Amino acid sequence: MKASQFFISTLKEAPADAEVVSHQLMTRAGLIKKLGAGIYNYMPMGLRVVRKVEAIVREEMNRAGAVEVTMPVVQPAELWQETGRFEKMGPELLRIQDRHGRDFVIQPTSEEVITDIARQELRSYKQLPKNFYQIQTKFRDERRPRFGLMRGREFTMKDAYSFDRDQTAAKASYQVMAQAYRRIFDRFGLTYRAVAADSGAIGGDLSEEFQVIAATGEDAIVYCPGSDYAANMEKAESLAPAGPRGAATQALTKTATPGKSTCADVAELLSVPLKTTVKSLVLATDETNEAGETVKTQVWLVLLRGDHDMNEIKVGKVPGLAGFRFATLGEIEEHFGCKPGYLGPIGLKKPLKIVADREVALMADWICGANEADFHITGVNWGRDLPEPDAVADLRNVVAGDASPDGKGELAIERGIEVGHVFYLGTKYSRAMNATFLDENGKPQPLEMGCYGIGITRLPAAAIEQNHDERGIIWPDAIAPFTVVICPIGMDRSEEVKAAAEKLYADFLAAGVDVLLDDRGERPGAMFADWELIGVPHRVVIGDRGLKEGHVEYQHRRDSAATKVAITEIQAHVK
Ligand code: ATP
Ligand code: MG
Ligand code: MG
Ligand code: MG
Repeated sequence: MKASQFFISTLKEAPADAEVVSHQLMTRAGLIKKLGAGIYNYMPMGLRVVRKVEAIVREEMNRAGAVEVTMPVVQPAELWQETGRFEKMGPELLRIQDRHGRDFVIQPTSEEVITDIARQELRSYKQLPKNFYQIQTKFRDERRPRFGLMRGREFTMKDAYSFDRDQTAAKASYQVMAQAYRRIFDRFGLTYRAVAADSGAIGGDLSEEFQVIAATGEDAIVYCPGSDYAANMEKAESLAPAGPRGAATQALTKTATPGKSTCADVAELLSVPLKTTVKSLVLATDETNEAGETVKTQVWLVLLRGDHDMNEIKVGKVPGLAGFRFATLGEIEEHFGCKPGYLGPIGLKKPLKIVADREVALMADWICGANEADFHITGVNWGRDLPEPDAVADLRNVVAGDASPDGKGELAIERGIEVGHVFYLGTKYSRAMNATFLDENGKPQPLEMGCYGIGITRLPAAAIEQNHDERGIIWPDAIAPFTVVICPIGMDRSEEVKAAAEKLYADFLAAGVDVLLDDRGERPGAMFADWELIGVPHRVVIGDRGLKEGHVEYQHRRDSAATKVAITEIQAHVK
């Protein structure tokens, strides 16, 4: 590809609503373009990355014996009514009507449709096992679409569904997928962890999430450095002994001073050491009227950081939440996506309650602070699934340093981005939709199922969260929009440079390398800045002076300086 023919559009500034680095860099590098909240155009440069992710996933799914189908984005509501999800699913499910007033949904996932296919097509045990997958557009009307492609409303998912004759076979199919996922994520060239996840009542141990490790991740992961124990926080908590651990896990009913307090004030309030680990706290006040209704509630977030340079703690109302005025419970629920009852002692006429949140079950990265400039804190985490106030005493909690359940050491906690999920479903959907096959004895049996997702368009964002610097993106080779960029200096002035660049470009192409020749005639500074922002891993610069000595300059995106490489050696060097 030549830059003059391709479409390159870079920006100096990130859009104001881009809170995380992947969103900022994807927009600045011209990979995506926003159309609406959580809805993006994949621009040519970004689409190349998405296509590479898809290709790896498709190859490994096929290798694992899965077969590709495509199911409609718009699906009749009847199927979703059969499983009850049309009613149960809540506002994340986008429901629409056609001109006749018939109900439809835009698929957020496709269990119903694939089960409908299976009940018609998989009639005999002889046809099993089968695994169908698709790489298809999904829509989830997320409460808080944000972070660009990381949590979009419209996004692309690879979703696969396995069908088996019995539980043993279904578990074997699950393991095949769990292994295929390891191959897939290995190939992406990212640091990730497969962690045990909660599989609800049915699944037993058979649910794992694939988490790309990144400080900005929304999920907390618990792992044991001394063993292969790893679980997401929900799962780790469900296994941990009940009860509060230490002062910071207890619910307190004390009075904090609104506005700002010092770190010491809050530490004292909570009876924790000043240099304590990262905690976020949820504080709520509320008032009840005579009828027992809560009329207003004020929410405060506090961040206690373990950083030694932290000498003050900021207490503030939540910005964006009704602009620092008192908010109603409804507003709070809308804003935080959890029941206000979880925030504190709703319905009790207590002035203030602090529900200490731990490094658990977090929604990440609120910006909050006092109503003063430069007094905001970023990276504040909001607890979700906090227990009902009455159950606070039974808080289960897992903190770094706890003993690992396998007895092989202490637990550590890090953050991750969920990019894949494998899940054993059992007969939940097949029973609801009467999807049976005939066994050897001619008896109908419900199909045993599993489902397996990968966030195709979340993956590039996760890759960037993990791999970037102040100049831009650093792609792993496997998913880079281009593997190599050739930057000729003075191509319009020098016939030698032009000829050498064209020849090198042709040689790379002939060797099957995904190469781009930057023939736009940009100044070197602007050209280099573009490619560092876009994050192409290998750069070859060709200039007059070097050519005379028979060399070009090579720089990997992670290198701090270029090295001279003989032009005859450069292809071998890049590999
Ligand atoms: P999350 O916990 O982040 O909301 P999920 O558990 O709801 O994700 P799944 O139903 O397991 O998601 O879907 C499979 C995969 O689809 C996820 O592992 C994730 O990579 C991706 N995904 C889910 N929601 C989104 C979204 N809003 N935007 C982009 N990718 C998504
Ligand atoms: Mg979700
Ligand atoms: Mg999840
Ligand atoms: Mg999931």
